[in-house]
Amino acid sequence: MSSLQEASADEAHVCSAKGCRGAARHAVVWNNPKLHTPERRKVWLACDLHRQSLADFVALRGFLIEVIPLEALTAADG
Ligand SMILES: [Zn+2]
Repeated sequence: MSSLQEASADEAHVCSAKGCRGAARHAVVWNNPKLHTPERRKVWLACDLHRQSLADFVALRGFLIEVIPLEALTAADG
């Protein structure tokens, strides 16, 4: 359950925000140093509405690495 599933071309990515079914367009990349090794990357998917709030949530805790377009994430994943 720790890694992203590979999505087929027509499978929509859904926003990670609670209760949101919006199509994800951004990837919030973060790492909790208390739980994860430095090279570990946790990813939350975010729609346009929740991009800021999800990024703020991890940024407040000092966990935020970067917010990137979803295409950049899947492209880098291969
Ligand atoms: Zn959302």
